[in-house]
This record gives sequence, C-alpha cells and structure tokens, in this order.
Amino acid sequence: MIVPDTRPTAADATLARIRSLPADRRRILFTGATIVTMDPALGVIDRGDLLVDGDTITAVGHHLDVADAVVVDATGTILSPGFVDTHRHAWEAQLRRIMPDVDDLGGYVMATLAGYATVYRPEDMYTGTRLAALTAIDSGITTMLDFSHNSRTRDHSDAAVQALLDTGIRGVHASMGPHFGTWDQQWPGDLTRLKDRYFSSDDQLLTLRLAALATAEIAGPALAYGPELASVAEDLGIGVSVDAVFGTASSEAVLRWAEGGLLGPDVTLIHSTGLTAEAWKAMGETGTTVALAPTSDAQIGLETAIPAVDEALAAGIRPGLSIDVEVALASDMFTQMRALHTVQRMRAVNAAHGTDRRPSRITTHDVLDFATLQGARTNGLADTTGSLTPGKKADLLVVRAEDLNTMPLNDPIGTLVLGSDARNISAVLINGEPRKWNGQVLDVDLPTLRTEVRASRDYVVNTPAP
Ligand SMILES: [Zn+2]
Repeated sequence: MIVPDTRPTAADATLARIRSLPADRRRILFTGATIVTMDPALGVIDRGDLLVDGDTITAVGHHLDVADAVVVDATGTILSPGFVDTHRHAWEAQLRRIMPDVDDLGGYVMATLAGYATVYRPEDMYTGTRLAALTAIDSGITTMLDFSHNSRTRDHSDAAVQALLDTGIRGVHASMGPHFGTWDQQWPGDLTRLKDRYFSSDDQLLTLRLAALATAEIAGPALAYGPELASVAEDLGIGVSVDAVFGTASSEAVLRWAEGGLLGPDVTLIHSTGLTAEAWKAMGETGTTVALAPTSDAQIGLETAIPAVDEALAAGIRPGLSIDVEVALASDMFTQMRALHTVQRMRAVNAAHGTDRRPSRITTHDVLDFATLQGARTNGLADTTGSLTPGKKADLLVVRAEDLNTMPLNDPIGTLVLGSDARNISAVLINGEPRKWNGQVLDVDLPTLRTEVRASRDYVVNTPAP
C-alpha cells in the first residue's frame, strides 16, 4: 500500500499564502528547525524559530511570539544560510561537461575561450547565465558571482545581467572583455553605462564588480589587473575579482600590486595556487580576499593543482569557495565543500605522517564558514548575506534532515557538509522571496528551457570560430 504524503499539498497552500501577500508586507515564521546560523555569536539553535519580515531576517530564537506571520512548520529540517559562490563563468552552462576529462588549462582555453566563446551571441549569454543561476538556486547557492568574461558587445553584457535579474538570484556581475576573437572593445569603458543602467542603488539584489586576469600570459595586457583597471574600479566604487592567479608571474604581480596600493578587502584573488610566501604575506597584510576553486585547481591542473587553503589560513585569510567552469566540473557547493575538506585533511595527515606532529586539520565548520559567511565577505556582501543574523537579508535554505540520506540528525553541520545534496533542499529563499519550494525551483518552464538550452548549445558547437 502506498501511504499518501499530504505534506506537498499543505506546503503548496503555504506557498500560495506567502505569494498572495505583497513582498514588503509579508512575514514568514519558520518554526521548530535546527538553525545553523553561521553567525559566530549565535551558533546553532536547536528547535528554533526564524522570522522573515519582507526581505530581512528580523529574529532568530526560541518560541518567537509573532501574531500575523505565515507559519511554516520546519520541524525535522535544518535552516542554513544560502551558499555563496565567489566565481563561476555562468555563460558556459550550456557547454557543461563537454570536456569532462580536460587535460590542462591550455586545452580548456583553446576549446572554450578561443573557440566556443568567439561565436556566442547575446542570446547565448542569456541562456547560459540563466541556466547556471537556476541550477545554483536548485542546489542552495543564493549568491553567485558571475565572472562574465565574454562581454563581446554591450548587448552581451546586458543579456548576462538580464539573466541574473530574471532568476531572482543575488547576483554579482563581474564584467570582463573576451580573451580572443573580434569584439567591440567597449570594455572596460562600458562599465560606467552598466552601472548607471543596472546598479544605481546600493540596496538591490545585483551588484557590479570589475573582473580581470592576473597577468598578460593568457590574453595580453589589456585584461591584466594593474593601475589602469584599478582606477576604473575606484572611480566606479566597485570591487575587483582577479582570475588566473597562479605561479611565479602572478606572485610577482601580487608584489607589484601591493607596492602600488592595488590590493585590499575589495580585491579578490581567485585560485591563488603556487604563489610564493612573499605574495601570501602581501595578501594577508592588505586584507585581500581569496576565492578558492578546489575542484578546478585539481581537475584542470592549475600550477600545483592543490587548493591553497593552508596558505590562505597561514596568511590570516579565510577564503571563499567557487565553482569556476561547468564544462569540466560539478555545478554545486556540496562538491566544493567535500573536495576541499578531503584534500586539506589528506594533506595535513600526510605531512604529519611518521612524525610526532599533530595534523593541522580543518573542520566541517570551517568548510561551511568558507561556503557561506566568508564567501559573502569575499564578494563584498558581508553585511547583506552569508549568515542567519537578524538584520541581514533573508537568503536561506530549508534542508530536510529526515530523508533517507540525512536521518537521524546527529550533527547538523556535519549533515550539511558531508551528508546532504540538492535533493534534500526543500526550500530556498533569496531576499525573502521563495525561489525553490517543496523541492522544486519555482517559475521555471522546464520543457521550454530545455529547448532553449539545446538550441543554443547546438548553435555554439556547430558554428565554426571565425
Ligand atoms: Zn575562472
């Protein structure tokens, strides 16, 4: 006999009630959950309540007495901050897993940046970026930094921004010109127009950053971070994310930037593999942020291929985590957390093996901190998101802790980091708005999306690079 599960119907009625209220006059009370706040002062709250008022978390605690809220019984679930992705190239999503056994960076660059990228139209930028953002939401990523490095024309940039807007994700559009092929040369000047058009308010879902490469090695000097690009960012009052930071040339660049005053909390260095001790010292002293990409470092083989978590921590930098390229990697944060946790502990034990030293191991709490609060700090959004702290925006996950793979709940942080995946995420709220509910991403017409994604993929892979 099949026992009917009545919860979906009840939950749908709850969602309907939530959505029937205007966003700014809506109060949602989650009750009876294990609340993993990731706020150092609040810790984990057993059988707790959390109140969302409009777009903001206004209270976390026990037995909150709220009169006019829509009550969501969250018994048997974990409430977690949404994950924060500090770097991914979202436009490539329709090419996902097209080179699962990529040999090295050269292989990736030639196929993707010197190949497929050069035939992308604005609609392909839109399709890829939207697909990446929806997939991120499905797997609990509520903030995604889109390192959009195929801005061949203004229309390409507009399409990428519009895709973020249309999904409701907390998006960071990090804009960079393309590496190869013909393009309008509108970047970085076009950042001024983008800012005026899409990013004029300080209190909005999307933010803008300048994106650059560390050195001229891959694509020449125009894309390399230095005094000129730094002054563009400074004039606009935006942060900078620098990709392809690895090896000797990047280490020398880091020292030049430090000397020129071009590092600081508003600058993120991505990967940071194989850097010298002097470079790390300069990064630590300037409060520069770091975005690790644990699976791409290993999979694509960037310099040492080892995610630089120990080096970052030794320099006093708590890093964020990132997905990078779906062409050869998984799309979700659970994979990043588990890969980093495993690799770091393997290294720590291996280094101490045969000695009297105690291995210096990171914990599941460290990894979840990197994936949430530190990611928010890395993206320049520490006051907005990354923890379930009253006053921050309501970017949160409801994770079922009584599913086949998550029961019984013995340690909520261990369950999130080691035992959960996208299937356990029952609901995702971004800025107080439900974006996934009852295990389904909302407002997505999957058959239509499939048709669009296939058509774009077919166009991109079948059109010869000029
Ligand atoms: Zn990258």
